Amino acid sequence: MGSNQDVGDKTVDALERLTVAYRAFSQQVAGAERLSPLQAQLLALLATGPPPEARVDALHRELQVSQPTVSDAVTALISKGLVARQPDSTDRRRHRLSLTPAGRETADGIASRRGDLVAVVDALPVEVRETVLNSLLVLVERFHRAGVITVARTCLTCRFHELHGGDHHCALLNLHLDAGDLRVDCPEHQPESA
Ligand code: SF4
Repeated sequence: MGSNQDVGDKTVDALERLTVAYRAFSQQVAGAERLSPLQAQLLALLATGPPPEARVDALHRELQVSQPTVSDAVTALISKGLVARQPDSTDRRRHRLSLTPAGRETADGIASRRGDLVAVVDALPVEVRETVLNSLLVLVERFHRAGVITVARTCLTCRFHELHGGDHHCALLNLHLDAGDLRVDCPEHQPESA
């Protein structure tokens, strides 16, 4: 029987395999839209957010890449007619980004291709799906505490998350959360230190 260290090594190996595969999938999806993977990620975030705020400083934190790298990708998206930039009404030194109609259409195309992966997960038995989701959320929480993941708007990193006899509960929404209800990107999330 393997030691706990063996399991840890194998788990990180599995994450590496998933990362390689997901990177290849993202490149394929972005390439089909004549975009870089980062440009495609930005369109997807602008389509589903906020959060994060549609500003370069928030987007670079979210994607864990440098601010100049995100600025360059935004400039490319603007020149392609997919993103518009307006001065922020609350702070004239900053700019807010939004999708143009063409950008919205491209983001919808990206989301639809991502559905191919969702379908693979949805084909799993429900208890396996929930176990996978819970295990991934535990890793997100631990990696967030270790400083590896910068932004994590999940139930397990939220100040409103409570455990009642092993059951998950949201104190803000006063909701019992079944394993499959735990959120990965909650707009009401607040960090535990807030
Ligand atoms: S506010 Fe959102 S992230 Fe926080 S516990 Fe409730 S559902 Fe989960």
